[in-house]
Order: sequence, then structure tokens, then C-alpha cells
Amino acid sequence: MALLFRPSQIFGRTVYHLQRSIQFCQTRTMLAGSCIDISHGLEGEQNQIQQVALDFAKNEMSPYMQKWDEEEIFPVDTMRKAAALGFGAVYCNEKYGGTGLSRLDASIIFEALATGCCSTTAYISIHNMCAWMIDEFGTEELREKWIGSLATMDKFASYCLTEPGAGSDAVSLTTSAKKDGSDYVINGAKAFISGAGRSDVYVVMCRTGAAGAKGVSCILVDKDSPGLSFGKKEKKVGWNTHPASIVSFDDCRVPQTNLVGAEGQGFNIAMKGLNGGRLNVASCSLGAAHASIAKARDHLKVRKQFGKTLENFQYLQFRLAEMATQLLASRLMVRNAAKALDNKDQEAVVLCSMAKLFATEQCFEICNGALQLFGGYGYLKDYPVQQYMRDTRVHCILEGTNEIMRMLVSRDLLTER
Ligand SMILES: Cc1cc2nc3c(=O)[nH]c(=O)nc-3n(C[C@H](O)[C@H](O)[C@H](O)COP(=O)(O)OP(=O)(O)OC[C@H]3O[C@@H](n4cnc5c(N)ncnc54)[C@H](O)[C@@H]3O)c2cc1C
Repeated sequence: MALLFRPSQIFGRTVYHLQRSIQFCQTRTMLAGSCIDISHGLEGEQNQIQQVALDFAKNEMSPYMQKWDEEEIFPVDTMRKAAALGFGAVYCNEKYGGTGLSRLDASIIFEALATGCCSTTAYISIHNMCAWMIDEFGTEELREKWIGSLATMDKFASYCLTEPGAGSDAVSLTTSAKKDGSDYVINGAKAFISGAGRSDVYVVMCRTGAAGAKGVSCILVDKDSPGLSFGKKEKKVGWNTHPASIVSFDDCRVPQTNLVGAEGQGFNIAMKGLNGGRLNVASCSLGAAHASIAKARDHLKVRKQFGKTLENFQYLQFRLAEMATQLLASRLMVRNAAKALDNKDQEAVVLCSMAKLFATEQCFEICNGALQLFGGYGYLKDYPVQQYMRDTRVHCILEGTNEIMRMLVSRDLLTER
């Protein structure tokens, strides 16, 4: 959308209302060519992929993110349009319909999409993580059954690890799967499951053996399996564009052919999924933070107090500089960890943990800082910075809390080699 007025023409309340109405769908520059240019350091195809994702975010997501949040809409059609661009199974093999891109490409895509709606992109990223787990560890039969329809997002996927009694200590999970004839019979419950009730396939970590990680298996549960049910939709601070609820298994029967990988390999598969998942969610934080800085910068240029626009106050200039520096450091860490995962570096797991820890905390602070630069307007739901702030808050909690990230990093440092 073209600029409706020049900054110097903004006086008084009426015009400010006009500005409000365009806040959600327009950011003037997204800071292209600046020190935090989102495309800096990218080459050839990566630049093109990013541009496609940025255009999609601007045209198909940003104008609707407020409505999706307020009305808690799961934007199926938009996600399918994103999938048509190859964003439904970004780092799955092309054999069954995946896009065949790298983790770095995925990070670039999720960062760009999140500038348009962080919450929706976060769900797309969880869906991608599940698709990859099936593609990487599933049988040919499972890959053939699921990857094509997950890639187009005709079908949606959810990741089920957390339980009411097993959060950070995920290995203590108790949801059981017992063999009966040619089936598994599953009993137990998973908590906080993103996409619950809307997803078509649930990637469920169950106990098939003794206590500990080696007694866990990964089993796919179709939405219409007998004995599967969903709790009430949770009311969340953010991430409102997809539902979350308890997923219950009450003598839930699935064929044994739904096992992903070998029995006892499930915890390992869950953690491997999360390495990418942590990068994905950190990438969503980057996109939200980038958009927040761009919006705050535009606001400083138009809002007048004490007879001048806010951009003239040195404290606010410095805040902007600090936020930009936090963002760039975060982005470099995320892209570095993504490259390590692509190269299968030995340190990839801990680099992903560090990147998730750093980027999600810094980017939440950036979004919160941007809200502050908007003053009272930042606290109004007419302005998107509060939504980016609410949506990024949970990234410090899920896919392993940031305390658990600290544990993983310190464990690596304290290991004798
Ligand atoms: C909106 C939302 C969506 C989610 N989506 C999913 C999903 O799709 N699939 C899924 O499986 N899960 C999902 N989760 C669950 C999420 O992964 C867990 O909430 C998270 O792992 C933390 O578990 P918990 O909530 O039980 O907290 P707890 O484990 O009870 O932790 C409480 C606090 O104690 C800290 N803590 C715990 N142990 C230690 C320790 N040893 N040292 C220091 N600090 C510690 C934690 O870091 C945290 O601050 C989602 C959560 C939310 C809020």
C-alpha cells in the first residue's frame, strides 16, 4: 500500500486515526538497505526464496494478522497458499513432495513469513518439523501416505511430547502404547498440543518399554482413530491463530505400521525434530523483531512530542540502535546454527540451543522495546507491536524452555573431553 501522507502532514487526532488504520497492513520500508537488511549475506537462490516469502507475508498475512489473532482464526486457506509456494515441507526430500531445501533456507523462510504473522508461521514451522520427522524416520509406506498431503497442507500435523506431568522432564512421559494383535493401544494424555483438534496427524511420543529415554517410541495417530479426543481449547496470551489443547488417548487403537523409526528410538527422534524446531521458532522471533523495529522506526519519524518528531531524541535513537544490534546478533547466531545443522557438525545441537536461547530472549526484548517506543499506542490492539510481543513471549517457554537451553549449553561446556 502506498504511503497515504507525508510525516510533516500529520497533525492532530483525525489524521492519527487514519494512521492507526493502516498500521497493521503497512510498514514503510522493512529497513531494506539498512544495517539490519534482512537479505544481507544471502546469495542467489536464497535471496529469491526470501523475497517470495517476504512478499507473501506482506500481501497474504500482514493485512489479516490482527483479525486472525482477535477472532482466533486458523487460516487454513492462507497456509495452503504458503504451501503452494513450497513452505509446507521445506526441508523434506523431494521424493514424496517435500521442497528439498536446507535448514538455513527454512530459517530464512520462517523469518520472512513471521514478519507477516508470527503465530501462523510458528504453527507452519511445527507442521514442518513433524513432516520432517516422518520423512526422515518413517517407513516408505508412511512417507508415501503423509508427505505429499503435508507438503500441500491439505493435511496438518501436530507434535505431541509434553504431558501434564512431564514438561521439561520430557523423558518421564507416561503415555503408554501396548501391542495388541496388529495394533498399538495407546493410553494417556498430552498437554499444550499446538494444532490439537485441527491437525490430521499427531506425532506422539509414547512409552513402549521401561522407564527412561530408551523406552520411548514415536507413533503416528490419525485424527479419526478410535479413542482419540481433545480437551477444551486453551486461552493463550499469544499464538492465537492456532488452537492448543490436551490430547487424550483412551484405549486409542492405531496399526503397528504407524510406528516411526524403531521401537525405543522415539525420544531420539523427538529431540532430533526439536533441533530444527528450536531454529524454526527462533527464526519466527527474528521476523517478529525485524517487523517491530521497522514499525517503531517509522513511528519515531512521524510522532511529534516537545515540538519535534521522536527520532530527534538521542535516548530513542540509542534504543533503536540497541534493538538493531540485538537483532543482528540473534540472526547471525540462528543462521550459524542452521548451517551447522545442515553440515551435520558435532556441535550443531548445542549451537541450536544457544541460538534458541539468545534469539528468543533478545527478540522478545526487541518487540517489547518497540512497544515502549510507541508509548500508549503500543499498548493498543490497533497496533501490531503488542501482537509481536505476545506471540514471541512463548518462544522462551516451548521447544524446551530457555532454562533447559542453559542446561544443555552448560552441560556441553562442563563435559571432560
Ligand atoms: C502455547 C504453547 C504451545 C505448546 N505447544 C506444544 C506442542 O505443540 N507440543 C508439545 O509437545 N508441547 C507443547 N508445548 C509445551 C511446552 O513445550 C512446555 O510448556 C515446556 O516444555 C515446559 O514444560 P512445562 O510447561 O511443564 O513447565 P515445567 O517443566 O513445569 O517448568 C516450569 C519452570 O521450571 C523450569 N525448570 C524445570 N526444570 C528445571 C531444571 N532442571 N532447572 C532449571 N529450571 C527448570 C522451567 O524452565 C520453567 O521455567 C506448548 C506450550 C505452550 C505454552
